[in-house]
Amino acid sequence: MAAAAATGAAFQAVSDLAFAEAFPAPSASSSAEPIVLSRNENAYGPSEKVFSAMREALSGSNRYPRAEYDSLVNQIAAIHQVRPEQVVLGCGSSEILCVAAAAFLGPGKRVVQASPTYPVLGEFAQSMGANVINVPLNKTYEHDLDAMLARSDSSTGLVYICNPNNPTGTLTGRKDIEIFVRKLPERTAILIDEAYHHYVTGSSGYASFLDHPFDDNRVMVARTFSKMYGLAGMRIGYVVAPAEIAPRLSTERLRLDVSVVSAKAAAAALDDSEYVRMAAKRNADDRQEFMNQVNARMLRALDSHTNFVMVNPLRPVDEVLEHLKRNNVLVGPRIPAMNKYIRVSLGKPQEMLRFWRVWDLMPPHKMIM
Ligand code: PLP
Repeated sequence: MAAAAATGAAFQAVSDLAFAEAFPAPSASSSAEPIVLSRNENAYGPSEKVFSAMREALSGSNRYPRAEYDSLVNQIAAIHQVRPEQVVLGCGSSEILCVAAAAFLGPGKRVVQASPTYPVLGEFAQSMGANVINVPLNKTYEHDLDAMLARSDSSTGLVYICNPNNPTGTLTGRKDIEIFVRKLPERTAILIDEAYHHYVTGSSGYASFLDHPFDDNRVMVARTFSKMYGLAGMRIGYVVAPAEIAPRLSTERLRLDVSVVSAKAAAAALDDSEYVRMAAKRNADDRQEFMNQVNARMLRALDSHTNFVMVNPLRPVDEVLEHLKRNNVLVGPRIPAMNKYIRVSLGKPQEMLRFWRVWDLMPPHKMIM
């Protein structure tokens, strides 16, 4: 329990730091509502069925959650064909990442991850005194698994693989990950973060470790309701872990971290597969339109498998970020490991129109032939 409380305090410190940078307060100088393209949310929100489940659940808000947690765990276990004991819920998958770090790391322990990648786990591990080993992505922006293996030793408690990766939106091939996992030290746990899994459409080398399980009792998979399901504000996510290690995760989680409304919302979202199908198609269309605009301006962008795109503006990034901010358009924070790029989350068509209108106020960039 003490560990859980410590997790909570440090988690808060990490969130404050990361969130202040990622989610800057809107500028007071502009009266227009900010266009928020900084958090990789689902700009359209959850499905109608989820809204109605949330409205209904509100009547139970005076009670602490009771059956809601177990009921959602059972539903998730049935979907992934695992035992309920293998499922742990969290206050967003951010809590899951911190819980995994708390369970497998500590002073002197090593966590190996890509650079750049989603920073919450690494930042939390660092606050616990663990050594965070950042291994640059390879030339095609996949995890450089050979280099990650070379940096993994007997002190490596955890390897973090974000696939698709944030902030690049790129994929790392399934076969390569399997070979990599097999070669890792026996006592190293592996956390695969599939926050953006639902956005991957038809990529032959990619396969989810939940939808296509892998027989290894060290591999955990984290998912969130914040992205495709449109529930970022409800704060709910989960991990599916082998029976051997799931109890270590459960011990670290905060008690009563999942609210009645978020549990009911998540349950309704899982039931609404038609919404997921439609939202994936809509995102693919929005992404294509974004790439059309990128190409029309002869900019460069990485091939994204998510709801955000890394764009090389072919101008100094600081100037671009400043210009967008001045015009009340919020995009992702500066990424030191990829300092020529900005990360733009996909918004609704009207928001993207405003994004490009603001973009075009900048003087043209120099053409690269
Ligand atoms: N994992 C990745 C890769 C993310 O990009 C995010 C949020 O942006 C999260 C996990 C955390 O999501 P949440 O805590 O909202 O579930």
